[in-house]
Amino acid sequence: NTERRIVENSIRDIKDFPKPGIVFKDITTLLNDREAFGVTMNHLYQKYKEYNLDYIAGIDARGFIFAATLAQMLGIGFVPIRKKGKLPYTTISEKYSLEYGVDEIEVHIDAFSNIPNARVLLMDDLIATGGTANAAARLINQAGASCVEACFIIALDFLDGQKELKKSTEVYSLVEV
Ligand code: 5GP
Repeated sequence: NTERRIVENSIRDIKDFPKPGIVFKDITTLLNDREAFGVTMNHLYQKYKEYNLDYIAGIDARGFIFAATLAQMLGIGFVPIRKKGKLPYTTISEKYSLEYGVDEIEVHIDAFSNIPNARVLLMDDLIATGGTANAAARLINQAGASCVEACFIIALDFLDGQKELKKSTEVYSLVEV
């Protein structure tokens, strides 16, 4: 539909970033386009306003932008899920594998503790293999909350990330490419 087309057209392809052979989806051209950013956030607000969410957890770093904006629109709290070593208080962490090696993300141990059995929406800008989002969903559940859905602006559908993640939570992607 029209909304999806506006969002999709605002995302720019950057060839050979961050290394040769990769086509990077650049969302900065969505963010600096007031119509595209507005359509994106309004679409997500309309979708999630009846979900009875307690928090939105955003993934470091582009996920923060969409997650914090939507949390404010819905009148709920925002929780950052960060790369290892960035959060100042006691954390719990999850490892996940990359093409070469492993990475680790963390959340504050008490991030969701103000609301018992909190209903959490996980957000990131893009899902590729799903490794990051899977680890983040596990973190949310380990922190005593419940990951009710994972939401992305873009899904790279030639990879099986969404399929894999759907085994553990609901998944929604605004644009599939
Ligand atoms: P995955 O763990 O699903 O393989 O990778 C997703 C993570 O890598 C997300 O946090 C996302 O921000 C980042 N990422 C991977 N490829 C791209 C890309 O082409 N564009 C953007 N904006 N982010 C990407």
